[in-house]
Formats: sequence, structure tokens, C-alpha cells
Amino acid sequence: MTSLRPYQTAMVREVSQHYQSGVQGVLMQSATGSGKTRTASYIVGKYAMTCRQVLWLVHREELLMQAAMTFAQQGINHRLVCADSSARAIKAQQFRELGRTYVNPTAQVVVASIQTIVRRLDRLPWLQPAQIIADEAHLSLAATWRRVLEHWPNARLLGLSATPTRLDCQSFSRADGGLYDTLVSGPPVADLIEWGNLARFKVYAPPIHFREGVKLRRKGGDYDTKDLEAELDAPVIYGDVIGHYEKLSRGKPAIAFCPTVASAERFAQAFRDAGYKAIALDGTTDDAVRRRSLQQLGAGELDVVTSVSILVEGLDVPYATTALMLRRTESLSLYLQAVGRVLRPHPQKDHAIILDFVGVTSIHGFPDELREWSLDGKQRRVRAANDNEPDVKVQTCTHCFAVHVPAPVCPACGHEHPIKQRREMQQVDGALEEITADQMEAIRRQKRLLQGQAQSVEQLVAQGIGRFRAMKIVEAREQKARLREQVRDARPDIPMRQLLAMKPAELRAAIAV
Ligand SMILES: [Zn+2]
Repeated sequence: MTSLRPYQTAMVREVSQHYQSGVQGVLMQSATGSGKTRTASYIVGKYAMTCRQVLWLVHREELLMQAAMTFAQQGINHRLVCADSSARAIKAQQFRELGRTYVNPTAQVVVASIQTIVRRLDRLPWLQPAQIIADEAHLSLAATWRRVLEHWPNARLLGLSATPTRLDCQSFSRADGGLYDTLVSGPPVADLIEWGNLARFKVYAPPIHFREGVKLRRKGGDYDTKDLEAELDAPVIYGDVIGHYEKLSRGKPAIAFCPTVASAERFAQAFRDAGYKAIALDGTTDDAVRRRSLQQLGAGELDVVTSVSILVEGLDVPYATTALMLRRTESLSLYLQAVGRVLRPHPQKDHAIILDFVGVTSIHGFPDELREWSLDGKQRRVRAANDNEPDVKVQTCTHCFAVHVPAPVCPACGHEHPIKQRREMQQVDGALEEITADQMEAIRRQKRLLQGQAQSVEQLVAQGIGRFRAMKIVEAREQKARLREQVRDARPDIPMRQLLAMKPAELRAAIAV
């Protein structure tokens, strides 16, 4: 079994501590690309070693292959509950990539698709899982999921999700009718970027000429995708999108996230008409074609893959550099899943490029915005206490189209924004802007500064930091102060100023010397 990263180990430890203390349902949040599946498969491996059954549930047949492959790579034997055709494809893939298959009809680890298992519930007497793992757990509150989960009411439940939020604001908490008792959060995206586990990124919001007169209706809490499709369906828009792709990301492997299958096909056609190699993929695409297309995208034989955001979960293409955001969505999950596709690090990629044509950055903020997750299912961002603005504050430079934190001067090109425009610059008029690393660093610095000035848990909470996190921060500070005292005793030669700048690890090292 391959080893885990330090933060993954910490998460596994936190999850098992909860189970040991009697908690039954744990929801584990960890960013797209942080290795959630691998972290959880480590837990699965432990069960398998002690001969207890684990049931791993995915919500779509296409995701089975990915889960099964993760187990195979860890050398974990697993049994499948799915359509025969899927089982054959999974075995074939393991033979192809690993020279053998880990699919085994007597294995303790069971991988199942929710659609198949719900139909067979009364025909699975051999299945008595001690632990159930629900992949994409933000969906696990749905009726089909509940029927399956309630079939084994005593099993421990671990939900996995990058974005435990729901547009319908249903709570994940058992106390409010949900399924989980506690939440374990992974590291913030900004940290994952700093550690090199995710790629750095630039955001541009290029202007496109939306078709006028299309009324955007609502459907299930989000925009009606048919209306979004209609708004994008004009030759001038295809031209806009391709033009900006050429200017800002020419030759870089790109994935376009479209509102509908039809629009994905139209954009692919438009790219082909402009001389690019492009293909549209959707849920009905033949698996071999899908696999070959993604390989071609990585090998530079294909420039653009267009897809529908709802179908992006199974796409694992670290070499994809550019995200063409063409689906406006109010769903933070969809947005983060889409940009997460290009945030995977890859040796040939210096930074990811996000071309936000539909203003999703101004709805949801930057991908590495500090977000606080909770079991209540609501979407929220961490805000400073003095921040009463209702929406995300980003500004698009009218000169270079970079999206940045509001500033009088564009950090990307140095363009001075005229004073009267500064407030309504949020790309309503369709300007394209990049948000630079410097600007983001400036925001982070300001957040850290504010946080540093707060004296108590209450003051941190007033800044919008969650109580649990605030307690951790204060606890860490107190611990550091104690360490500092110890160093002062042991090493009186270290000047106070230097002492104050030392990190806990350095302090510990100083005591050890
Ligand atoms: Zn600029």
C-alpha cells in the first residue's frame, strides 16, 4: 500500500478517533485533487486486513471503474455489485494497466453502484458491511441513497465530498434529518497549492456577447440549462470564446464546461471549424472513445474537450491546463469540481488558466478562497468582520481582462481603473481580467493580519472564522507561547525578535539542540 501524505494521515486519524468515541456517521470534506479517494481507500484497506466487510458506494456506473482502479493500485481485492458490462470493463482495465485483476468474488471490500444495489437489496444476504463509504456524499441525502444506507442501520458511515453543500440547503446533520454526526475537514485549497499538491492558477473573465433577450429561469435551485444553452447559441459567441482561448491559452490542453450536451457539441464543432482538434464527451460517450480522447488531450493530439459540468466527476486529466467556464451555476459544488479538473499539478503545467466567460468567479470567488464547511449544508465563505458586501469582490481589468481583487490599478497589466468605474467593474460590461498571485497573496496577508490581531476565540469568530477553527488557532498560539518559553530557558542566546519569528518546528528543534 502506498503511503499517505501528512495531511491525509491526519484525516485518517481524525476519522478513526471519531469512530472510537462512538460516532457513527462522519462526513469527510477534502478538496478536489487532494486525494480523497486514496485517503479513504487506506481506511478500506485496514478493514480488509481485519476481515470486516466494507461497502463502497458510488452514484453512477462510470465512477465504479475509478474506485475499483484505486483499490487495484493499492493491491486491495474487491467484489463488484454492478451491471455485468461494467464488471467486464473494470476487469479489462485492470488487466490492461496492472497485468492482473483484483476483482475477487470473495473479497471483503465491495464496490457498488447505487442504482444496481438499490434493486438488489433483498438479494444480498452475504452483504453485512461494518463500514459504508459514500462517495460524492453531497448526493447521499437523496431518497435512493437513504434506502440503501438504511438497509444497514448499524454500519459506520463515512461520506466523502469536496463540497458538502446543497442548493436545497438540506442539512447533513443527523440532528436535522441528515445522516452524519460530525465533519472532518481537509486542508484549504490555498495550502494544497502552497505544498504543490494543486497547481497555481490565473483567472481571466473575457467578454462574450451573450444573446440578448434570453430569460434565465430557475430549475431545481439553479439556472435552467436550456436557457443557458440558448444564451450561448450564436456564432459571435463561438468566435468570442475561440478568440480569447487563442489569446490567453493557445496550444494548451483545455476542457470546456458547457450547460448541455447540445452546447458541448456546438462548441466542439466551432473549435473544429476554426482548425482545432476538439471533441465533445458526455455520459453516453463510448468508454473507449472517452479514454482515447483524454489520452489524446494529454499527448497534444487533441486541443479541446468539451463536456457538461455534471459529467466531470470521472474526468481525471492532470495535464489539462485550461478550463473554459461556459456554464453559469449557483452551485459551488459544480464550480469547484469544474475548476478542480485543471488544478491537478503536472510537470508540463506552470499554472492552470481559468477562462471565466460566464461570471462564476464573481458568484463563488476564487478557487482558493478560504471556505468553512459545516454539516448544515449551506454554502459560505469566510469573511472578514468588516466585510458587509453581499457578493464576492472581484474586479475585471478592462484592458487585459485579468480578474483580480478590487484595486485601483490592475496588478496584471498596470492599467489604472477610472475612479467612477471601480464599483461597477464586476464585468457586467464584459471586461476580462486576471487575478494575480500577488493580489491573492495581498488578501491572504490581510486575512492573516486581522487574524493575528484577534485576541480571543470570540474575536476570531467575529471575523467569520468557525468556532472550532478559532479554538484550534488559539490553542496553537498558546502551545507556541509555551514552546517559546521553553526555548528562552534553554537558549538565552537567541534574541527575542528572532524567537518571535520562529515556527513551532524550529522552536522544537532549538530545544532539542
Ligand atoms: Zn489589466
